[in-house]
Amino acid sequence: MPRRCTVCHHPERHSIDGALVSGAPYRSVAKRFELSESAVYRHKSEHLPAHLLQAREVEEAARADDLLDQVRQLQTHALDILERAEKTGDLRTALAAISQARGNLELLSKLAGELDERPMVNLNISPQWLELRAMIVGALEPYSEARGAVLRALESADDG
Ligand SMILES: [Zn+2]
Repeated sequence: MPRRCTVCHHPERHSIDGALVSGAPYRSVAKRFELSESAVYRHKSEHLPAHLLQAREVEEAARADDLLDQVRQLQTHALDILERAEKTGDLRTALAAISQARGNLELLSKLAGELDERPMVNLNISPQWLELRAMIVGALEPYSEARGAVLRALESADDG
């Protein structure tokens, strides 16, 4: 049985991660959250990087959503202008609005496509994968050479 990480399963895991990220020594973090120093140390070196990656992905998704909203607003404006320009017979402005709207549509479909693809291409955001990964690395602990090879392979998979 691989060891269960007491930090990952701690109800205040996010506060612990936050303290570690802000540079608090693992000894004082262990004391503050009543955890063993070795558990905090192991968590910091083996699990924290994955959590940070996950947090970054969530943040990026939120930013992309925000961008999507902004492009939608621009699109509404462009269509408004088009409608008004058509009513007053201002063809120049109407054409400019059409070209703006087309650009917005392209951007929208691109953004929407990227958002849809994200869950499929990104394993690192999946909690099951993070669990499994921690389990594999834990199980290989007695076999340092194999463990090193697996860690390197996982890391290069993360990059790709
Ligand atoms: Zn952990």
